[in-house]
Amino acid sequence: MEPPAPPGKEVRCPRCGTWDTRPSQQRHVLMDMLMTIFQREPRRCRVCGRRFYSCGMPKHANAD
Ligand SMILES: [Zn+2]
Repeated sequence: MEPPAPPGKEVRCPRCGTWDTRPSQQRHVLMDMLMTIFQREPRRCRVCGRRFYSCGMPKHANAD
């Protein structure tokens, strides 16, 4: 049984699977800019320290 994602922590760590992630500091400026264009947010896991990009597509109703 998967616990529901806590509010504001909808991003899960791809490595250890915890929901306890936070927005990462902007370090790789160019890469982060590029990822922002693709609506991916740099994040870091608080548990294992993994830095990754969320698949942060905007949550709007998409019928197709
Ligand atoms: Zn992790």
